[in-house]
Amino acid sequence: MRVSNGGICDLSRTTAGRQNTIHQATILNASPVAGIACWDTEMDTYRQIVLAARPKGVPTPDNFRLESGPLPVAAEGQLLLRTKYLSLDPYMRGRMNDAKSYAAPIELGEVMEGEVIAEILESLHPSYRQGELVQGRTGWRTHAAVPAHATRRVETGGNPPTTALGVLGMPGFAAYSGLKVIGQPKAGETVVVAAASGPVGSLVGQLARLAGARAVGITGGADKCTYVRNHLRFDAAIDHRAEGFSDALAAACPDGIDIYFENVGGPVWDAVLPLLNRYARIPVCGLVAHYNEGKPAGGSPVAETILTVLRRSLLIRGFINTEFATEHYDGFLKELRPLVRSGDIRYREDIAEGLEAAPGAFIDMLAGRNFGKTLVRIS
Ligand code: NDP
Repeated sequence: MRVSNGGICDLSRTTAGRQNTIHQATILNASPVAGIACWDTEMDTYRQIVLAARPKGVPTPDNFRLESGPLPVAAEGQLLLRTKYLSLDPYMRGRMNDAKSYAAPIELGEVMEGEVIAEILESLHPSYRQGELVQGRTGWRTHAAVPAHATRRVETGGNPPTTALGVLGMPGFAAYSGLKVIGQPKAGETVVVAAASGPVGSLVGQLARLAGARAVGITGGADKCTYVRNHLRFDAAIDHRAEGFSDALAAACPDGIDIYFENVGGPVWDAVLPLLNRYARIPVCGLVAHYNEGKPAGGSPVAETILTVLRRSLLIRGFINTEFATEHYDGFLKELRPLVRSGDIRYREDIAEGLEAAPGAFIDMLAGRNFGKTLVRIS
């Protein structure tokens, strides 16, 4: 269980004489996972967290194991990396199951998968120098030796490096591409998105507003609602954990819903379904409400859903952000970097301290106890 130390760091910055409160990083102290010993960080050892057992339902600390060993050695063409930040993302829950999906599961005993920002400790590749920052999928570990081509330089256009894992990284691109390619918001339309304070949902709503649409965010709890409405400037924010959620959502969407950007599924989908307008578009980005279930069932009335798809000519399309990368990734970075720098697009980070805190922070995120993009500061 994590406890906020109350340490809210205001990372407001000034760009070209303009005061831009771009984001606040909430520093949370995740307590070390029970059963995982804390090791002294020594120069010649590395630590990693592996999948110890497959979760049944909600993951628990027992599903993870901390290991340590001698530092890896870089071979010709490789980089020796020290992880600075680890990104924790909901998709990792799926990889913990032994189930067929768009990506292979993590094997028992294998290091947990994840994207990181790392510093080059040693380069055996002519194009990279010691001290440079790169990003890559090296997993939940303090160090790694990897081929240089498996990484890329962190280039955030003047924004903090951590944005490469959030608003200017994979979650940001999922929001951008799903909305642009599938949602296609138009002025005056109503766009609804859940997990609205997180990295995907927060960008979906802000981009919808920049396109002239009305953004309605669904999120858990009063604090997140206030943040989504006041700081992210959505037109409305509805608490899906509060009594009367469906009625409140209907009241916030008097003209129905033209785009529902699906991040969660579950009871939120049930509340959205009757409000969908004719020709509504539904980018299906994620179903986090179902990730801890054996199979995605929930309580949704499937027959009613399909009938609604037919009667209202709905366009529902699932996507994995990588399928849009070739065509849209460069445009995403070109468009978003200046908007983030100027503060027109805002974001928030929720940073846990130390590798040992990663399992707890991950468990908390799946339960909605994160507030913003979940990261772990490793070094
Ligand atoms: P977040 O950082 O927003 O964390 C997940 C959030 O989901 C929680 O904070 C919680 O927010 C919400 N949540 C959890 N359980 C429920 C529930 N039962 N009902 C409603 N909301 C719930 O996550 P991301 O922004 O990183 O990801 C959002 C979604 O996008 C996920 O489904 C993820 O898998 C998906 N995704 C898909 C990609 C793709 O390529 N298709 C790429 C990246 C992400 P709250 O407290 O507000 O309820």
